[in-house]
Amino acid sequence: MTDRAAPEMADDLAVLGDVLDHAKALSLDIRNGLRDRPAGVLGDEIRNTPLAASGLGAKAALDELIAEYGDGFSASAGPRYLGFVTGGTTPAALAADWLVGALDMNVGIPGDSAATLISVEAHRWLMDLFGLPRAEFDGAFTTGATGANLMGLIAAREWAGEGAGISIAEEGLAAAPPIKVFSACPHSSFVKAARLSGLGAKAIEPVGNVGDTEAMDPAALDATLSAAPRNLRKIVCASAGTVTGTAFDDLPRIAEICRRRDAWLHVDGAFGLFARVVPELAHLCAGVELADSIAVDGHKWLNVPYDCGFYFTRHIGALERASGPLPAYLDVGGDIPFYLNRNTEMSQRFRALPVWATLKAYGADGVCDVVRQNCRHAKMLGDWLEARNDFRLLLPVGLNVVCFQAIAPAGEDPKSFNMRLMRAVNEGGKVVVTPGAYKGEPGIRAAFSNWMTRDDDIAIITAALAAAYDAITG
Ligand SMILES: *Cc1c(COP(=O)(O)O)cnc(C)c1O
Repeated sequence: MTDRAAPEMADDLAVLGDVLDHAKALSLDIRNGLRDRPAGVLGDEIRNTPLAASGLGAKAALDELIAEYGDGFSASAGPRYLGFVTGGTTPAALAADWLVGALDMNVGIPGDSAATLISVEAHRWLMDLFGLPRAEFDGAFTTGATGANLMGLIAAREWAGEGAGISIAEEGLAAAPPIKVFSACPHSSFVKAARLSGLGAKAIEPVGNVGDTEAMDPAALDATLSAAPRNLRKIVCASAGTVTGTAFDDLPRIAEICRRRDAWLHVDGAFGLFARVVPELAHLCAGVELADSIAVDGHKWLNVPYDCGFYFTRHIGALERASGPLPAYLDVGGDIPFYLNRNTEMSQRFRALPVWATLKAYGADGVCDVVRQNCRHAKMLGDWLEARNDFRLLLPVGLNVVCFQAIAPAGEDPKSFNMRLMRAVNEGGKVVVTPGAYKGEPGIRAAFSNWMTRDDDIAIITAALAAAYDAITG
């Protein structure tokens, strides 16, 4: 035995420069190949190898990774992955994410590094980016919009209890007054948050839509809230950008109703809040500054790596009371936030750093350019589809999402035809799209959110759609 605690690790540390050079070369190979690598790769079998007693060392381990799994690395961070809303990674965000690992600082507790200070600064920049007054809002970083929705709902839940003189965090929901959540088109992650928060999915009461859109009808909300029993505590979840129809609820009117009816207003703006950054789109999100809590994603339109989201709230105290109290051994004093009291986790990754770096590197204008360009590309694809007689748009392109249907030949079921077309497109490797029904009509959904997408990618996408249509109708 040597007196070194971990000989293999110490040996690797001696050649750390080589190891990191190797990681850099592999990363560059992946990043520079994003345009050519398949946009999606079908999953293969799960390997069932046993854990080895002795290791290979870092460099050989990375080589094994590439040899065994490299073919399965997709270009989901590339310019033509149009499934869900995935975004990519800006160069500054990627570089900063490497530093996160090198630093390995925990932002849960302040007082022993700059990590918490940088997180506060980055969060304030985000408030500036979205036009939210710094003096009125506070918040934290999360693992994504699901985490941000959950934190918004936990704060709302605590507020609901406190309005009836009860701490739900202390007494539990059994002691709470009745609480209901009103929403027109909640994202599945918000339903998940309702389940996790103990309120339950059935606490969500549907509110009618405006016409045949996914947007909430404010008059219907007002009528529902006014008919509610006196002791009911009310939470409203509005949407700033639904995932299929990119509908925006009428936030100024809804906020006014919530104030009048004593309801908490939570806004899910996972990707839609980014409309606020572009002058000609900002009207879509007008009124979001009136919300009590707002959930947003970082790893989508901000183009920082997984995982990253954030929330803003006017009532950070409610959340801190819900998720505290701080045990004595963690109380290091001072007025820097304790992020462990603002999140589900105590120890937290330094996920603010890639946000800080990308905002420092490209500024608000850089974010605006990406959002504007993605919306222009969605419009280009929409115009192409509209001009064809084998495709049709299921609704006009309003932001960055295109929801369309391939027109099935007579006698073919539209749903299975569109799924066949989608598979043919995705198997071609140039593009990934996902299913996207709208108002009962089956279709396909293409969402633009990657900073790398260029005009010539739209030509590749339309060629892939046309070729897939020809192939399956052959
Ligand atoms: C993606 C999304 C979510 C969930 O976000 P995650 O980052 O997957 O946790 C919530 N709401 C909306 C509107 C979304 O688009």
